[in-house]
Amino acid sequence: MELRELLKRLKDLGGSDLHLVAGLPPAVRVHNELTILRDVGRPTPEQMREMIYPILAKEEIERFENDPHFRYDLDFARGVADLGRFRFNLHKQRGSLSCTIRALSGSIPSLESLGLPPGVRDFTASLRGLVLVTGPGGSGRSTTLASLVDEINHQRSARIMTIEDPIEYQLKGINQVQARPEIELTFANALRAFLRQDPDIILVGEIRDKETAEIAVKAALTGHLVLSTLHTNDAPSTINRLTNMGVEAFLVTASLLCVLAQRLVRRICDQCKEEFRPSPELLKAVGIPPEQATTLFAGRGCESCHGTGYRRRVALYELMKVTDRLRDAIIEGASATQIKQLAMAEGMITLRQAGIRKILQGMTTPEEVISQTVADDR
Ligand SMILES: [Zn+2]
Repeated sequence: MELRELLKRLKDLGGSDLHLVAGLPPAVRVHNELTILRDVGRPTPEQMREMIYPILAKEEIERFENDPHFRYDLDFARGVADLGRFRFNLHKQRGSLSCTIRALSGSIPSLESLGLPPGVRDFTASLRGLVLVTGPGGSGRSTTLASLVDEINHQRSARIMTIEDPIEYQLKGINQVQARPEIELTFANALRAFLRQDPDIILVGEIRDKETAEIAVKAALTGHLVLSTLHTNDAPSTINRLTNMGVEAFLVTASLLCVLAQRLVRRICDQCKEEFRPSPELLKAVGIPPEQATTLFAGRGCESCHGTGYRRRVALYELMKVTDRLRDAIIEGASATQIKQLAMAEGMITLRQAGIRKILQGMTTPEEVISQTVADDR
């Protein structure tokens, strides 16, 4: 059993993770389903060590041998870099070495291919301020940020520094730092260190706590363009998330340029896409007036989409620009609902509205949009 062969299988299947446990057949996660590789057999503890030890440094092997609670994340494995980028999560299971390998994305998609709202570029052209990309885990936030930073890097000569966890994309000519909380290299500590090195642009993987939020805001106010992500459901609720973390409202309004919320929905399979007549109930549930859509599209299910009717995914975006009127409302302590209404009045396309556009374009289905976004008339 060879690690390289298994990693190739992971890539060929388009999987996200490969699970290796002694005594069990290897398994690959493709979307949400586990594919068991029955043909390669079950690795023994000895075979597990033979596969994994060569990618480790000597001291890492010693740690594994001596620590019964061994747990280790490895981002730069030796000898397999030509196959792509992987994150190895190693741990001991019943005394034997186990491993979950995550395939990290390789090349950075262009802003065009992501279909970002055109206004986003105006903000990333700014010399100072805070740009936030929000959404739940797996919504493509890091991909969007990496593309934005990559484009900025090509457009102007700027000193760019990043602190990430994990580093998902290699950005050419950019100083990327992997966060390592176990040695105090947290987002907040890295940000503090960066500010002493005078960068123009800073990417912070995620704002999770008050400390990181405050330094990010401070950096944005003192002449840096700061890009980061936050785990919120939509763009308007990001404001309250920041103030609930303890950032003063006036600092939010002074620093924040825009918030881009995003979601990924499944794209209808091109091979088996067909028209159907939606029921009035379905149209009402998603919020499409009946006269706008006598027919919609869905995938019937075929071999190339494994019978699901969907292949690949498409992003929905909600871009909230922090305008003067919005700033006033934030200072006055407006609720997320009030901020949303105001932003919509100022032209914001919501996630649900973006989803409806994609339904009418035949790219996704009402069911997908209903499951990933909330109605706007809350
Ligand atoms: Zn299909």
